[in-house]
Amino acid sequence: MGKNRTDTLFEIEEAGREALCGHIIRVAFESAADTEFDYLVPDEIWPVRVGQRVEVPFGRKNKLQKGFCVESDIPAEDAFGSEQRGIRLKIVSHVVDKEPLIDSELMALARWISGYYVCPLGQVLAAMVPAAVKKGAGVKIQKYVYLTTNPDDTDAVIDELRGKKQKAILTFLREREAFDSDSAVEAAQVLKAADCGPEPLRRLAQRQIVKMGQKTILKSLPAIPKSAAIGTERQIVLNDDQRRALELIKGRLDSGQFAVSLVHGVTDSGKTELYIRAIQHVLNKGGSAIVLLPEIALTAQTVQRFNERFERIAVMHSGLTAAQRNVQWQRIKSGEADVVIGARSAVFAPLSNLGLIVVDEEHEPSYKQDTVPRYNGRDVAIKRAQLAGAHCILGSATPSLEMLANCRSKKHFTLLHMPKRVMDLPMPQMKLVDLTQTPITQKGVSLLSEPLAQHLKEVLARKEQAILLLNRRGYSNLVFCPSCRHTLHCRNCDVTLTFHKSKKTRYERMRTVTGKHMNYGYAICHYCLAQTLVPEKCPLCGKGFAMIGLGSQRLEEELAGKFPDARVARIDSDSMANKDYYRLLRDFGEGRIDILAGTQMLAKGLHFPNVTLVGVISADTCLYLPDFRANERTFQLISQVAGRTGRSAKKGTVFVQTFLANQPAIRFAVDGDFSGFVKQELRHREACHLPPFWRLALIVLRDMKFDKLEAAGNQMRQRIDAIVGREGLQATVRGPMPAVISRVQRFHRMQIIVQAPNAATIQRLFAALRAERPIRPAVRIAIDIDPVNLL
Ligand code: ADP
Ligand code: ZN
Repeated sequence: MGKNRTDTLFEIEEAGREALCGHIIRVAFESAADTEFDYLVPDEIWPVRVGQRVEVPFGRKNKLQKGFCVESDIPAEDAFGSEQRGIRLKIVSHVVDKEPLIDSELMALARWISGYYVCPLGQVLAAMVPAAVKKGAGVKIQKYVYLTTNPDDTDAVIDELRGKKQKAILTFLREREAFDSDSAVEAAQVLKAADCGPEPLRRLAQRQIVKMGQKTILKSLPAIPKSAAIGTERQIVLNDDQRRALELIKGRLDSGQFAVSLVHGVTDSGKTELYIRAIQHVLNKGGSAIVLLPEIALTAQTVQRFNERFERIAVMHSGLTAAQRNVQWQRIKSGEADVVIGARSAVFAPLSNLGLIVVDEEHEPSYKQDTVPRYNGRDVAIKRAQLAGAHCILGSATPSLEMLANCRSKKHFTLLHMPKRVMDLPMPQMKLVDLTQTPITQKGVSLLSEPLAQHLKEVLARKEQAILLLNRRGYSNLVFCPSCRHTLHCRNCDVTLTFHKSKKTRYERMRTVTGKHMNYGYAICHYCLAQTLVPEKCPLCGKGFAMIGLGSQRLEEELAGKFPDARVARIDSDSMANKDYYRLLRDFGEGRIDILAGTQMLAKGLHFPNVTLVGVISADTCLYLPDFRANERTFQLISQVAGRTGRSAKKGTVFVQTFLANQPAIRFAVDGDFSGFVKQELRHREACHLPPFWRLALIVLRDMKFDKLEAAGNQMRQRIDAIVGREGLQATVRGPMPAVISRVQRFHRMQIIVQAPNAATIQRLFAALRAERPIRPAVRIAIDIDPVNLL
């Protein structure tokens, strides 16, 4: 813990404690310093409450800096360093927020995150409150005016006045009975009524006949339109599985005790309907609820559905402007909204009376934040529910192994099954296409195998729609010289470059490469986004380049060749701004597009009844990831994407193309055998001491200088070993070793992996590391607890 011992006006002395003028508070800053500091609050600005921000002098130069008050009215004997005589505390300059931004429940959550995810408290608090709120985005200041005269004397005062304009102003205020600050009238309105400029009003204020006040108001938001469909869903009669699940959840909600329900329900089993009913139950009891969705699933479709069912709803997603974000937050804070829908960070929504948190698509790796604080939105949701004595519903068609394991071992967790699609819609038919058996033409492997192309033709003839999924952006994933085998690498990172065809015509000069025609274009690094124009010729041997691999751009091109009449659209983050994404989805939903091709964005939560074909162009891309969850991700991807088809009476078919047809994850997914997959995967995880059996922590160190990095890595390893030995911890420590991607943006990367049989061991290790001295070594460091990937 830090000490704050530079010069100040106040001094705590052994004898004079009672005479101390001011209260002591503890402040956490957004800076990376893993320490909190104590300050004195002069009486004039007391009280300062926990969760309010203050501005205080900081550092040797006493630069003013904002920080959160995290403890208030600390007894002088507990203040940092008070055991040392003559310690001097600095003084708070002013209080920034009128009301605390963080209540005590969220403060407790922040402390837990700070401890669990090994992150300074100030940085956690900073992440909890949107920047737009801290900046007051969209806040307008309005001036208000009211009369100071006694109502009975007002006529006399008006009579005495000389100025006509002044008389008009007072007459208007009297008519409006603006006799106190509560009935004050907006200044602009007054001036308009009196038809004058600000001068007469200023003079009246000077003579103290009127008083001016200010109110800060938020811009109002256009309401999300509630469509005519409202009420249609209300008629839904729950099926047996839904009813059973809802009864159990209601029981838990009524008990007022923390519990978690993991709903394992196939796509279209009616999970969302279940969430909605559970939320209604909470609202009826005066509670509030949060729904977390992966950012990608926060489509207009989903939001609209909740919007139609709930009156007082707030939506938080990345597409909001700063002002909108602030408005939503203020509505939540003031109790104007009691249902919050949002991505990961909505778990911090400042609701009171929280009764329920729903985490849909619980298994999604995107719930993990990849910058500090590196929290998992799902796991924080569970913790928040626990702190609030609330219920937490986790939903997924492919629950994570971690949560399944919790259901087996923890008493608060229950697993609920919803194995059937509502209305008894059949599950889609799954077809495996073994690409090693398909003929390779002169042009290389065709991205659309013969069976898939054939089926696609029939689907288009029936005026139905198809989704094609290719988990790779760009045109190809390798720019390769066929003669000398030279590949283009990023100059900053340890990865090959992805070729993107340029839309700019000046680069579209045709040229001949190894007998084929191809376009000019850019090679782009997907890690640092560096671009280079692909050189005309291989710099090593002078021959031309070839592009190999599979990319969504190449798929688009193949489709255009094979189905010239089909209306094809590509969705991926290269071609997409948010609004275009929503527009394309709408066009697809309304039948103006026949084939939607794209990356895994398409695998999530979309509902299109006319889609009868889904093609997974390559099921293998995830399997090649050097990550112990590669199998799980592959299984999830295929299962999720399969849920995109057959969402109406029409039958759906899914084609899964692969070069690894015997790979168990692919086999199990194609057979729809979730429990078979889980059983096999758990056996493997247990044998290798991997999650969900053991816990992981990943330390990534990076620096431009390799020698320095290596030394820092070794030193960190020694520190860890020393603690493990001293505390007698059971842990396996690996590394330092080069990270999978060993260089990004010119930084070399090394990693240390800690495996331990439980979370408590990891906690003890890092708490000790933190207490010892600042964790920060000479190089940059990222500590990732429960990492979702090991790249
Ligand atoms: P999931 O979230 O599991 O994919 P949804 O709750 O979105 O499933 O349900 C899929 C579709 O079926 C939605 O259009 C929903 O309105 C409808 N639905 C849900 N439950 C029922 C039910 N019991 N009877 C009829 N339709 C239902
Ligand atoms: Zn790069």
